[in-house]
Order: sequence, then C-alpha cells, then structure tokens
Amino acid sequence: MALKKDSNSLDNEQEESQNDNDSLLELKNLEKNTEIESQPLKVSKENYNENGFIDFGFNQSILNSLRNKGYKNPTPIQKAAIPELLLGRDLLGQAQTGTGKTAAFALPLIEKLTDNKELNAKVLVMTPTRELATQVAESFKSYSSESSNFKTVAIYGGTDYRNQISALKRKVDVVVGTPGRIMDHIRQGTFKINGINCLVLDEADEMLNMGFLEDIEWIIDQLPENKQMVLFSATMPNEIRNIAKKYLNDPAEILIKSVKKETQLISQKFLYVQRHHKLDALKRILELNNEGVIIFVRTKLLTTSIAEALENSGHTVAVLNGDIPQNQRENTVDRLKKGFIDILVATDVAARGLDVERIKLVVNYDFPFDKETYTHRIGRTGRAGRSGEAILFVNQREKHFLRNLENSTRTKIEEINIPSNKIINEKRMEKLIENVNESSLAQEENEENKALIIDVLDNLKEKHSMDDSNIAMAAINLVIGNKAFFVNEDDSWIHKQNSTDRNRSNRNGNNRLRNSNRRNNYQNDSFETYKFNFGKFDGVRVANIISSICNSTNINGRSIGKIQIFNDYSLVDLPRDLHKETKNKLKKIKVRN
Ligand code: AMP
Repeated sequence: MALKKDSNSLDNEQEESQNDNDSLLELKNLEKNTEIESQPLKVSKENYNENGFIDFGFNQSILNSLRNKGYKNPTPIQKAAIPELLLGRDLLGQAQTGTGKTAAFALPLIEKLTDNKELNAKVLVMTPTRELATQVAESFKSYSSESSNFKTVAIYGGTDYRNQISALKRKVDVVVGTPGRIMDHIRQGTFKINGINCLVLDEADEMLNMGFLEDIEWIIDQLPENKQMVLFSATMPNEIRNIAKKYLNDPAEILIKSVKKETQLISQKFLYVQRHHKLDALKRILELNNEGVIIFVRTKLLTTSIAEALENSGHTVAVLNGDIPQNQRENTVDRLKKGFIDILVATDVAARGLDVERIKLVVNYDFPFDKETYTHRIGRTGRAGRSGEAILFVNQREKHFLRNLENSTRTKIEEINIPSNKIINEKRMEKLIENVNESSLAQEENEENKALIIDVLDNLKEKHSMDDSNIAMAAINLVIGNKAFFVNEDDSWIHKQNSTDRNRSNRNGNNRLRNSNRRNNYQNDSFETYKFNFGKFDGVRVANIISSICNSTNINGRSIGKIQIFNDYSLVDLPRDLHKETKNKLKKIKVRN
C-alpha cells in the first residue's frame, strides 16, 4: 500500500474527484514566452502527441522518466512555471500540494543541470518537514532517473549525520533539506554551498509557522549572491510577501487558487484499533450515529460479511460493490436517499461519485490506498453545504500512513476513542428518553390515536387496576423490548487500544503541544495532561523536562504533576487553566536543545 501516487495521478482522476479539487489558474505578470515556444524540439515528431511535455524542450532523459511515470500533460502550474524557470527567472508561486508543484520546479532545474560535472550542489531546496524533504527528494530522483549521473541528496534532522556527510562528499546536483539540518551542515563545512545557483523555498508559509524565519534568512545570507530564487507557498500572508520582496528579483507570480473544498465542512477523525477489534469498534461507532452512514472497505467479500454482521445487530444495511448490477446499485442509492436503509457498506469503485445528502458519517474501515481515495471517500458526506463526520480506522502499522495523509492533505485529523460501554449506555438512555418524549408530542397531534390511547388507558386502569406510573413503566418496558438495554460486555480491550503508544511523530522537532483527552484515564481534576513531542529517543529525562518547563515559564517545579516519558513523546500533568501566555511559552520549550 502506498499513500503517494506516483503515476498518472492527475490524469487518472475521475470527474467527481476533479470537482472536489477544482483549481483555477491565475497568471499575473506572465507574458507568453516566445523564446521557450520557439525552442527546437529535441525529440522526433512522432513522439509529439504522446507527451505534452515536449513543448518545453526537455531533453530525452527527462521525457523518458516522465513517460515511465505516466505523466502525459503538464498541470496548469507546470505550464505556467516551467518556461519561466527554464529562462532563469525568479518565481513566486501560490499553490497547494496536489497541484503538481514539485515537478513544476524540479523538471526545469533538472533540465538545466543536464551534463553538470561539478562536484558541489547547484540547487538547494528547503522544506519545512522531513516528510516533505523526503518526498521532494524522491520526486527529483524519479524525474532524473533516466539522466546519467544526476544526484539528489536529502538532509534532515532526526537521523544520523554520517550518511548525509558521506553523500555530500560525493558529486551532488540537488540538496533537499530542512532548515535546521542544512544550517548544521553549512556550519560544519560538510555542505559546500559555493556552487549553489538556485534556491527553492517550498511550503514557505509552513516554514514560517514553524518558526524557521531566522534560520532561512541565515541560510540565504550564506549562499552566493547571484542565484535564481523560487518561493512556493500555500498561502500568501504579508510575511511571505515581505520575504519575496526582500529576496526575489522581479519574480514571475503564479497563483493557483483552490476553490473552497467541500472537505472543509467535514470533521475528520481517526481512532486506533487492532485488526481483530475492527468490527466491534464499528458497531460501537454506529451506536452513536447510525443514520446515513457509508462504510468503506477494501474488498467485495468484506462488504457482504460486514453488512451481514450489522444486519444481525439490528441495522438497516445495504451493500454496494462491483459485483452488483448497475440498476440494483441505483435502487440501493435511491433507498438510502429515502431513508429505507441507513447504512451502506461499499468498495471505492462502487461508491464513485455517490451523492446522497443525508450521509452524515463516513467510516474508513480499511485505510485508503492514497490521498485521492481518502478525499473522495470523505467527500461522500458534507454534501450540499451540510456538515459531516469522517472516521478513519488506524492500526499500529498504519500510523505512518496517517502522518503522510495528514501532511499530504494538509489537514489535522483529530484522534477519538472507541466508545466505551459507559458512553454507549449514556447514548442509549438519551435516545430512549428522546423517543418517549417525541412520541408524547406526536400523540398530542394525532387526534385519532389519542382517542385510542385514552381507551387503552381506561381499560388498563379499570380492568387491570393499574395506576399511571405502572402503566408508564409497562409502556417503556414495551419500547425497550426483552433484550438487555445496556451493553455490559467486557470493554477493557477498548481502554487498551486507547492507551497504546499514540506517538503522532514529531514533525521535524517542532514541539507540537497537545492537550490530551483524559476523560477516562485520569482522576485528579486539578491537572491537565500535555503532550510534548520529545521522548526517550531524544535522550530526554524527567529532570530535563522539569527544568525546561520551570526555566521557560512561571510554573513552579512543585506544581508539576505526573511525567511519563515514552519513546518519542512525553506526557506531563500541569495545573489546569494555565494562562494563555504560559501555554504559548510551553509550545516553544526546548529540552536538551
Ligand atoms: P505535488 O503537488 O507536487 O505534490 O504533486 C501531486 C501529485 O501529482 C504527485 O503524486 C505527482 O506525482 C503527480 N503529478 C505531478 N505532475 C503530474 C502530471 N503532469 N501528470 C500526472 N501526475 C502528476
């Protein structure tokens, strides 16, 4: 399973998905460049129609690697940016991931480095996170896979220096890295920057959010003065404009505006669950929400087995998979729309383009293959301007896919717990009271039934000597039925899943501080638990944490509660209701540098 699609990703999008991610290209300051258009094609005429990249004048090795990847036509940002970069112009681009921006800068830079024989790097790409650095370096590698002796090296924190140093000693064309580690290598003299003639700042807004401004400026100051500058950012706040003004020279400006995505109305959540507990977890989720649900699974076989299990638990369910004839599928969707069925268990292919307004919840029972599949799945809810919820099941081995998914969709997916017996029972109680109350309101409106009910009441009182409370109890008993009302099966497995190692990876040493949900596992109400993304792997000890907190904030050592250090994160109990300023300081604390 791979999260990152590496071929045909944009070409193969189905109509529905394109609608979700519609983008609009706006070009400013960009005149058509005749020089580029008039460049001789370097390949034979018969190849021309096969590859929309030929117009750029790319050499055959690049065209071959693009063919290997299955790219047929450049995306809008590539059409706009490639000619400018080939000309050596500076560029300011506003574009999100998913638009093809990496190839937009990588391809012209590779083209310009064809036949580069020099030892030291010519291009430096700076990214906010190591995940992005790896991703961008992989892109450079794959676009240059057919070019002989082209070398890309990724340098980022959290890994050993030795491999990076030895890679930097050999011939390098492109270095991709995160600011901190780039600085370290420059300072140590292990990254020779005298040959750099192009600097790319990728996801510049994210780098600023992470507090890298000073580092970036320091790095820029070290680089040779004459260089091409490329700045990509998903948003264009003033700080980014200021950097552009300060360092870019008459840049071409490209804006790929994202049309407001429906996914913004969808609250995205995930829960950890081991494979053998998935069905139980699903049933528990459906206890809280079972009207208008679509459950995505990977195989046709699974659609039927899950549907059967849910039906046995009393839900109205239907299956949507590739084996079901089209007319029957339409019928199923129609019944879902009308509310005759509440839950649909589907495969991705069968649910393509499904548009049912009443879908309130999407369950990703099996992890999606890639971000496009995920975006499509969750887009089945939140239709027509309504809000919706999407829950993703994640097992231990899928943790890093979750991180990749968050990075590539630039969305924070919130963690939730599998509902415990207590929560389910509270919900059941709430529903029962609601039903009885609604039924009493409905009865007031229905004159015909009202007369019937009064007759039944009289009858019960006279012939069976029942009083009001006896009758009410018997009526409620009738509603409940003879099955046990409360769930009381062993739910200790839930607490185990909820307390398993929930490391959500430190994105490049950025101490993301999270107020953890302590509902079930902490007794003392005067404390709140905070999560810090450093742990045993960073060599952190209790004393380090206490001294950092005390030194950076006004929190007294004695008022710090329990401290738990896990492999790469730590949980620290701190007094409840800390001042906002103190919380901000906590976000920035560094332990052992
Ligand atoms: P990016 O915005 O650079 O993260 O790219 C998003 C995805 O689109 C990546 O999976 C690329 O491999 C893919 N991609 C980029 N350019 C093209 C293209 N011209 N045709 C097809 N897929 C592309």
